[in-house]
Amino acid sequence: MNIKINDSFLKINDSYLFSTINKKVKKFISINPNADIIRLGIGDVTLPLSKVVIDALEKASAEMGVQKTFRGYPPEYGYDFLKEAIKKYYSRLNVTLDMDSIFCSDGAKSDLGNIVDIFGDNLVYIPNPVYPVYLDSNIMAGRRVRFMEGNKDNNFLILPKGDYECGIYYLCSPNNPCGTAYTYEELKKWVDFAKRTGSLIIYDSAYEAFIKGNEFVHSIYEIEGAKECAIEVCSFSKQAGFTGLRCGFTIIPLELEAMGHSINKLWSRRQATKFNGVSYPVQRAAEAALSPLGIAECMKNIDYYMENARMLSKLFDEKGIYYTGGKSSPYLWILCPKGMKSWDFFDYLLENANVVGTPGEGFGTCGEGYFRITSFNTHERTKEAIERLRKIL
Ligand SMILES: *Cc1c(COP(=O)(O)O)cnc(C)c1O
Repeated sequence: MNIKINDSFLKINDSYLFSTINKKVKKFISINPNADIIRLGIGDVTLPLSKVVIDALEKASAEMGVQKTFRGYPPEYGYDFLKEAIKKYYSRLNVTLDMDSIFCSDGAKSDLGNIVDIFGDNLVYIPNPVYPVYLDSNIMAGRRVRFMEGNKDNNFLILPKGDYECGIYYLCSPNNPCGTAYTYEELKKWVDFAKRTGSLIIYDSAYEAFIKGNEFVHSIYEIEGAKECAIEVCSFSKQAGFTGLRCGFTIIPLELEAMGHSINKLWSRRQATKFNGVSYPVQRAAEAALSPLGIAECMKNIDYYMENARMLSKLFDEKGIYYTGGKSSPYLWILCPKGMKSWDFFDYLLENANVVGTPGEGFGTCGEGYFRITSFNTHERTKEAIERLRKIL
């Protein structure tokens, strides 16, 4: 064909991380067919949806089969009933959202990837290590990317630095893969920095519901002035187990302006053109997840995962292994013992404990020498993995 492609796509690194892991595990099993492999690399929820959510889904599906209650295209930005539920959910934080600032979608990944559409050629600052979506979507769009290094010195919690310029900053709290989260004072540094430099923060709060206690911030809008410099991207995936159902939402405050243009208006236009809304039953299910009973049921699942995180944290504390996360996050980010590289440690765990995790190097160069362990397996399997790890670490 004599058709030009978007050659920015040629600049994306092929993602070999999970395919390499699967290949290595497969090969190991072929040599050791009786090995009892425990997966602590799962980056997906495993517990089923709560009853309130399923009831709402079934009821709404039945409505679609009756003439009087049938619904066609949903509003592009979400039904008012879901936006009201989101607004109410934020009111517990004393954050008041405009209905028009809420955009429902089929998940945070889509919004994080698509948001690039409405911005021009800015400097884009991305954490390293990082959830790959921010980086790859900006490379696909041909944007100029700079990395913000996470390391032992900053405990993998990225803060603004003196030489950072005006640009778009991606933050994720609680963080995937490092499990770290911002306190009020820390996040305020970012909001102040963004306002001072005229920068925009894109704040990924997919793991907000895992925050325990009052130490960490749930929403960037808890910080005064954040509505003038931040977009918040949220998801029902980890909070309510919607990874297979698909629903998320993004907050774009009406106050957000770039060179005199309303960012909210640009995103409204973008979504109305390229997105036709989330299905009615899924929006009813999301609404149910935010009801008092829904929140309580979802929290039971989160507590289940967090008990695994607590048991894993205890092991690494006991062994004196440096790690971040595991407190208000399902992820533990550990320093590989004895200066081992990420993939060497992967092999070591697979061969000696038949435990699978995720090499930190797969999340960026600054992840070399680190390893991500997740708490999405069952208590029984997590306990078994801990017993095995205790013997070999
Ligand atoms: C899982 C996850 C999301 C959620 O993505 P969905 O598309 O809503 O499932 C967003 N950000 C991060 C960092 C995640 O790990």
